[in-house]
Amino acid sequence: MAAGEVLLNVDNVTRAYGQGAARFDAVKDVSLEIRDGEFVALLGPSGCGKSTLLRMITGLIQPTSGTVYYRGKPVDGVNPYSTMVFQSFALFPWLTVLDNVALALDARGGDTSGNRERAEKLIDIVGMDGFEGAYPRELSGGMRQKVGFARALAVEPELLCLDEPFSALDVLSAESLRGELMELWTGGTLPTKAILMVSHNIEEAVSMADRIIVMGKNPAGHIVTEFKVELPHPRTRKEAGFETLMDRIYAAIAGRTEIEAEEVGSAPGSPGETRLLPPSSVGEMAGLLEYINEPPHPHDIYKLEGELGVTMADLLETIQMAEMFGYASVNAGDIVITPLGRAFAEASIQTRKELFKQRARRLPIMVWMMDMLKATPEETLPWKVFFTALRPEFPDELAERQLDVIIDWGRYAELIDYDDRTETLRLDPSVSRLPAAATA
Ligand code: ADP
Ligand code: MG
Repeated sequence: MAAGEVLLNVDNVTRAYGQGAARFDAVKDVSLEIRDGEFVALLGPSGCGKSTLLRMITGLIQPTSGTVYYRGKPVDGVNPYSTMVFQSFALFPWLTVLDNVALALDARGGDTSGNRERAEKLIDIVGMDGFEGAYPRELSGGMRQKVGFARALAVEPELLCLDEPFSALDVLSAESLRGELMELWTGGTLPTKAILMVSHNIEEAVSMADRIIVMGKNPAGHIVTEFKVELPHPRTRKEAGFETLMDRIYAAIAGRTEIEAEEVGSAPGSPGETRLLPPSSVGEMAGLLEYINEPPHPHDIYKLEGELGVTMADLLETIQMAEMFGYASVNAGDIVITPLGRAFAEASIQTRKELFKQRARRLPIMVWMMDMLKATPEETLPWKVFFTALRPEFPDELAERQLDVIIDWGRYAELIDYDDRTETLRLDPSVSRLPAAATA
């Protein structure tokens, strides 16, 4: 699609959070343009300001300095030409699929008589016909997200903003929903003139976007570089150029070796979003470390996929886990084992547990769980309590998966244990004797 008229112009925008000495710039001096016909992806590590930038573009928050222009006019308040689809779309649980979509149409005001018919058409477009009368609780995560798309499309946004719209879905649902969106977009069935999608998945960005803007952090969220994707649709990794581009983008992504555990806002109840732990296991991480402990140093990440016989998605989760524990560091598409990682790879089972425990007990979400358990007389709480605490922030499937991950890590580290019979979590007796975890 040829790039046309400039729709969006972000002009030297900065957004700060906090006051005085606590002030920091989540987004600093960012400028970009989006034209009619473009699908742009915004890629970067977690915390680099992607969501903040998107919220300024849709007018949900205001820049601290600089201006967002839409069709040449400064955006003042919510940008009426744009809509946002979030990671998990909040549908009204007491309304059917049809009513959820129709409500978005009714909210536009004016004549509402044709709205139910229009809603039915949108439900059809996203492939949800037959489910008009279903309630959100009856739908899978993927189906709910489709209804979310239908609701976003109902207002016929010129600029469709997507904030990691597929990251809460299982692999297959994500893949099929991506395919459906691309079909709608490239087929010209959408009233939408441009799409801006936040992602942290390089393959997703390369398979969908015309242009990829890479953001970085440290000290502030900024644009690192930009790539054009000139491959024809539909794109697959098998094609020439796809993986080369992935490699180049990977190399451009800065800050991948940050230790997530040291970021703020990583547990429920603290300011900011709860950070997701990569759903990988100690066994998988140990396998990776043993492999990269052998030459060549460094290993090329894209070769590891074939060598280890795992999918890139799983591999990246495991790499993220190894980075989080300080066992490996990633740079320009390469991974190297750190001295600590080498110690882990070469250690006995008991020493591995000890090394793992040292780091695991400082992960904010682990600290949060242990503190909650410590606060009870029996140091025991129902699984449901933690699930409920995570639910406001994550869709159910993701909250459950996060708990699985933390229980798996917690068991290995002998920090917490889970009793399947009573569905309760319990603090490991050895932890009661540890000093306060947060200050360790
Ligand atoms: P991304 O979407 O790239 O992960 P965000 O835009 O969500 O990044 O966040 C960028 C930075 O700003 C992070 O350090 C985050 O903790 C911080 N941040 C985001 N929202 C707020 C807020 N409302 N108050 C304070 N800090 C925030
Ligand atoms: Mg975000």
